[in-house]
Amino acid sequence: MQRGILYIVSTPIGNLEDITLRAIRILGEVGLIAAEDTRRTKILLNAYGIDTPLTSLHDRNEMKKSVHLIARLNEGMDIAYVSDAGTPGISDPGYIFVKQAISESISVIPVPGPVAAVAALNVSGLPMDSFAFFAFLPSRHGKRKQLLESIKKESKTMVFYESPNRLAATLQDISEILGDRQITVSRELTKIYEETLRGTVSKISESLRGKKIKGEITLVISGAARDRTEQSAEEIRARFQEARKNSESSTRDIVDALSEELDMPKKEIYRQVLDFIKENPDNKTS
Ligand code: SAM
Repeated sequence: MQRGILYIVSTPIGNLEDITLRAIRILGEVGLIAAEDTRRTKILLNAYGIDTPLTSLHDRNEMKKSVHLIARLNEGMDIAYVSDAGTPGISDPGYIFVKQAISESISVIPVPGPVAAVAALNVSGLPMDSFAFFAFLPSRHGKRKQLLESIKKESKTMVFYESPNRLAATLQDISEILGDRQITVSRELTKIYEETLRGTVSKISESLRGKKIKGEITLVISGAARDRTEQSAEEIRARFQEARKNSESSTRDIVDALSEELDMPKKEIYRQVLDFIKENPDNKTS
């Protein structure tokens, strides 16, 4: 007999329209939907006329319930797992279930969709080519400070989930430990009272002073400024590659032009360019 498939299905983080056509189809086709909170998922299912039976799988029963659901999968039933909002396993249950299913060689298929961290990153205006996600900052002050100390040198953009009650204290700790960085506070994304505040930590703290903050919040913080030499090396290589692709100029002419544009000694530019050519001998067009 064919065994069932476990679908990990992302659901909206607020706006019920943020669900894929495939997610709607799969939720309607599976034999059972395991949900973090069946009442909450029922609202979504009702909105799309889906009447698949529901069962609960949350933080407190995930281990035991996974065993039970894997038995159903082994009997041939397809099951979808959804958390309260967004993508399962991202600061939500789901990891244990997925891990156990994989260890039983069950097919686990993602049905991707919203993640609050990515939505907040998208509108932050901060670099998003690479980022580090830290989920919720520790609620205890000491642990929170410790965590922030440990990521002081992180140069990637950083994303955190935070509770509105702790926002002021967290901003204070960020300012003390990471400095007055660029930050965005995204609140209630995709919902009626959606807003994203952008600015330095001090400016945002000032604008929120004395206000009662409500709703779901995601913070995006700029990474630590990288070492000037490291940054320049990357820039020289990228600019050289670009110039080589787009012009017939000689290496010497490109180096002269870059030296002027970047206000850096020709010797330094040459060094980087020679290294680049050595590492990428066929790089004329790539
Ligand atoms: N699994 C979810 C995901 O994929 O984003 C995250 C679940 S986690 C328990 C909930 C936290 O995500 C909230 O406390 C908040 O920090 C963030 N969050 C969820 N929805 C959000 C929204 N609409 N706007 C801003 N942040 C949100």
